[in-house]
Amino acid sequence: MSQRWFPVAVLAAMTLVACGGDGTTGTTPDTADITDDVSVDDASEDVTADVSDDDGDTAADTSSPDTAVSVGDPNVVTLMENEPVTLVGGASAPITVEIPAGASAVTISVLGESAGMYGLSSWSGPDGGVLVIDGWTDGGGAAQGLCLDCPNRIALSEGDFAAIAPNNPAATVVPGTHSFVAFGVVPKPVSQNFQGLCGDGECTILDQFQCPKDCAATPVDGDVLVSVYAKVVAAPPTGGVLDLNLHFTGAKGWTAATAPDDPELQGLLDAVRTIYGQKGVRIRLGEITYRDIDPSFHIIETVQGADSDLMELFSQSEGAPRNAVNLFFVDEISAAQFGGAGVILGVSGGIPGPPLEPGTWRSGVAISVKEVEGAPAGVDTTMAHETGHFLGLFHTSEQSFGFGAQIHDPLPDTPENDESFLMFYTGAGDTLSDWQGRVMRSNPFVRHEAEDMP
Ligand SMILES: [Zn+2]
Repeated sequence: MSQRWFPVAVLAAMTLVACGGDGTTGTTPDTADITDDVSVDDASEDVTADVSDDDGDTAADTSSPDTAVSVGDPNVVTLMENEPVTLVGGASAPITVEIPAGASAVTISVLGESAGMYGLSSWSGPDGGVLVIDGWTDGGGAAQGLCLDCPNRIALSEGDFAAIAPNNPAATVVPGTHSFVAFGVVPKPVSQNFQGLCGDGECTILDQFQCPKDCAATPVDGDVLVSVYAKVVAAPPTGGVLDLNLHFTGAKGWTAATAPDDPELQGLLDAVRTIYGQKGVRIRLGEITYRDIDPSFHIIETVQGADSDLMELFSQSEGAPRNAVNLFFVDEISAAQFGGAGVILGVSGGIPGPPLEPGTWRSGVAISVKEVEGAPAGVDTTMAHETGHFLGLFHTSEQSFGFGAQIHDPLPDTPENDESFLMFYTGAGDTLSDWQGRVMRSNPFVRHEAEDMP
């Protein structure tokens, strides 16, 4: 078995979390059992069943928290759903799936334990067409948790991983037999010491870069649950509808009862409507469900590692409508885990987040509503930005730390270091490009009506 090192990175965390971000590293292995997640299944019907429930409503408000009414997109075909797959030494055997003709986009998810980091270590289509480079997780590229060289960029994710292809023009989804390998490691906890002796076994902050063997991750041996969905349409849709589940902790005094008539909250939703309604994106907000969750979640102290507050928060989406992105409004998301500098305005459960499954470690986005002096982005653009991540968008440009190459997204129509873009790492802008719109519309959470078809 090859030794896989996985420098779990403060850098990766900083890079991906900078705007408020997308925690990518785990630091505290625990014994959380995967069956916790399996039970989520019971609350969510399968996609085929959802199709018949689709009544086309786009504006209904409901505040009943425990009825799993689902609105499904009839264009989404379930190819695998939470099928147990065993990882040995951190990798599954190759998994094959038949992608049907007419598939405009394919989404794969890997649900594991909260302590693990999951992803794909390869994905190829018929005739050897590569989407994810075989073995990229073995070294170098995995250091950032991002496969920058993959034709279809993916980001490893803590607890629950997802990828959508294509997410840029260099990636093509060809119908036929696809093969992929699920990947998982449990990162070694990083001690708060900055420097340390190489070879002493303690993974310090500097060891991640200077002595990776002290930070070697443990390959996962055990089961994960794999799902694959394809969006099958005659041509990529030009518009879509996004349903939302809004979860309230009491922050800002908002509750499921008051929020539907609260001018401030409704103003924020209107701002998201405007941003997502722009030319090239054309995504409308559809059904909005209002739910209360325990007020103890109003402050999120930890955003990384097994059993973090953030994971527990996202898990509160269990039982919510399935075909909707979960937004959690909290007073504060602490940056203390990253040395206490700055604030976290919002966090997405992934890039993209797990598809069509409430109740997992990563099922949603968290939004901090506390007024922060000097914050780069408002709550409105933060909602749109984090939901953009959840639907599959990377930062157009990551923060430049003055060392290493600055990272940019793989899209041809998002200029580098253009602060007017919604997905620039500061999240202050509101512009989205045509390709960003296409990536968002490829997500199974975005459903389509007749007017959205070209
Ligand atoms: Zn971001």
